[in-house]
Amino acid sequence: MTNDYKSCEGCSARSHAVGFVLPEGDPASCDYVAIGQGPGQTEAERGIPFFPGAPAGYRFGAWINRAGKPRQDLLITNIVWCWLPKLSVEQRKKVPVNKWGNREPTMAEAKQCWKRHLGPLLKKVPEKVPFFTLGMAAMEWMLGTRDSRRIGTVNKFTVESLDERAG
Ligand code: SF4
Repeated sequence: MTNDYKSCEGCSARSHAVGFVLPEGDPASCDYVAIGQGPGQTEAERGIPFFPGAPAGYRFGAWINRAGKPRQDLLITNIVWCWLPKLSVEQRKKVPVNKWGNREPTMAEAKQCWKRHLGPLLKKVPEKVPFFTLGMAAMEWMLGTRDSRRIGTVNKFTVESLDERAG
């Protein structure tokens, strides 16, 4: 399985020389799915999504602890699996970045990663397992909106509806 991802040239986020990050957890038996927008440098170096020692992973760990959701019960992944680099202050004026200065994936990149990797993975998750999105780009891809009023709300969607959007 790993080799399929290593050779993927599906989109402009391709950065296998630096690192890409496979999901953590079992899609068939998870209790929750957490979907971020893309791995940062430490995640890419470690090959672990939301690596606990990285800034985003630290916040993620605190959040799931507060919510009473043990990490081993989760499927944790991202809408794109290749590393998204931290941008310079000048570059950040031109494209959306997350709070740590990593560029956000584009929806074109999310679409390609969905078709190749994330969509097939999520089809193995049983119906009614809740999904959480983490980050604006993840919400945009999964729910089709960047409306911040939707943060913290419960929304319904189907994996098939994402297939349709991906075309
Ligand atoms: S982000 Fe996904 S689709 Fe794009 S090159 Fe990486 S693994 Fe392939």
